[in-house]
Amino acid sequence: MTLVTRFAPSPTGPLHLGHAYSAILAHDFAKSKNGQFLLRIEDIDRSRSRPEWETQIYDDLHWLGLFWPEPVLCQSTRTAIYDAALDDLWSRGLLYPCSCNRKDIANAASAPQEGAPLLGPDGIIYPGTCRTRWKQQGSSGKPRPLSIPLRLDMAEALQQTSSLFQIDKNTAWFQEIGEGPGAESGGVRFTQAEMLETVGDVVLSRRDMGTSYHLSVVLDDAAQKVTHVVRGQDLFEATRIHVLLQALLNLPTPIYLHHRLIRDQAGKRLAKRDDARAIAKFRDEGATPEDIRAMVGL
Ligand code: GLU
Repeated sequence: MTLVTRFAPSPTGPLHLGHAYSAILAHDFAKSKNGQFLLRIEDIDRSRSRPEWETQIYDDLHWLGLFWPEPVLCQSTRTAIYDAALDDLWSRGLLYPCSCNRKDIANAASAPQEGAPLLGPDGIIYPGTCRTRWKQQGSSGKPRPLSIPLRLDMAEALQQTSSLFQIDKNTAWFQEIGEGPGAESGGVRFTQAEMLETVGDVVLSRRDMGTSYHLSVVLDDAAQKVTHVVRGQDLFEATRIHVLLQALLNLPTPIYLHHRLIRDQAGKRLAKRDDARAIAKFRDEGATPEDIRAMVGL
């Protein structure tokens, strides 16, 4: 089987040194194994994605000496696939509509009897307000609402993926050949209780996007037959969600390679707005691709 890696940037700003590191790692890893390196443009957030940033992604990556097969997969062309998966999950009673805004969630989660709100991969763990309401209403048989966020009913999802939790009937795992932020590697385990308490009912369809990062990433990695997901440690905690979704949607689980994050001098992780670290800026100043590799420790 051919080893396939991918780099999946969002065209919402300039690529910086952290992106260069991730892309070069995924590219070089595939090449070292006679595999294939793919590029995917994650442009589901139409309000923040810009064609000029997409063009600059191609320019910067080519300048770095990276090449990939064309055509490039753009998530904005895959709405029908995401819709079909949402329909499937909806018909199996795994989703419910949620009209809570951030403030509602923060208020409900910090109600005096609840203690301090718990944070998961997507922020505050959803306290379940709309799930309770939805269940009380008698939810079955209704068509999937299209313009309201949909959350995954985590308890129901765990019921429907019980075969994933084989070790002690309670623990699932994925294979990590890089390292999580707490040096996790090898078979990384997670339990059903952790999924309920530290992940909760994540949003799978966002308002205006018709999907979410978690849903699109698992569908696209499977469609592109990605065998090894190379990405930053900031996404390590989300991997449990992806493994659960793969089981729900009957998709294969790739091997994961999470890598360290490139930080600025103050130790802060680079963000899109860190234009000072943009690859394009180093290019303009006369840096070579080898200089960029050296800057990120490659
Ligand atoms: N699109 C995501 C980002 O730009 C990366 C997704 C992934 O690698 O799973 O941060």
